Amino acid sequence: MPVSVKDNIAQVRTKIATAAARAGRRPGDVKLMAVTKTVDDKRLREAMEVGVNLIGENYVQEAQRKIERIGKTVPWHMIGRLQTNKAKYAAGLFDMVESVDRLELARELGRRAAAKGRVMEVLIEINSGEETKGGVNPEDTLTLIREIAAIDNIAVRGLMTMAPWSDDPETSRPYFRALRELRDRIAEEQIMGVRMDELSMGMTDDYEVAVEEGATIVRIGRAIFGARPTLAANKD
Ligand SMILES: *Cc1c(COP(=O)(O)O)cnc(C)c1O
Repeated sequence: MPVSVKDNIAQVRTKIATAAARAGRRPGDVKLMAVTKTVDDKRLREAMEVGVNLIGENYVQEAQRKIERIGKTVPWHMIGRLQTNKAKYAAGLFDMVESVDRLELARELGRRAAAKGRVMEVLIEINSGEETKGGVNPEDTLTLIREIAAIDNIAVRGLMTMAPWSDDPETSRPYFRALRELRDRIAEEQIMGVRMDELSMGMTDDYEVAVEEGATIVRIGRAIFGARPTLAANKD
């Protein structure tokens, strides 16, 4: 049996709803993002046909090619590491950049968004303890957000993180809880222009735990589209 994107999505939605109910949350408070790196157009369209209305991409060029072919009928978010020199393209392609982790990148995104007469919404990516991954350290986050808040054409909307890899979803829970607590602390500061609405956390292996801990966006690739090819021939 080939993997059915449609069935997979139905199953993920059920699990999101169940996890939300466990935490006394409404399923509608959690947005399901389909993460489409390496995914072909056919499967991407299949996901959209069953109502997936948020797409996440890791690479600027891959997103650009897909958007040219498929058109942009739903929001696309950048979730991968973004080089400052690609901010120009990102500002033309994405509705949100979830992986902002440094002032220099935010400044360049602001400049490029201004040139296009738009505001770029961003999430601040928090590093959950893995040196190799992107993200700002939790203790530096408030300072960074205060600086980014002063940039024109950038609007901070929340936080994003990736928990360290583990085969036990419970391992992710303290990281997700810490992200929620950090979000609440920053919200209390009431920084002008900053909203802390979104908590983007949880992937195929740990999204149910993330929903229990307050995720508003879960970013799901493999549970929808199946395993990705191991060779990432996809670098920008
Ligand atoms: C690839 C990726 C995902 C999706 O991962 P899966 O384990 O396939 O669900 C989510 N977030 C980020 C930042 C990613 O790079």
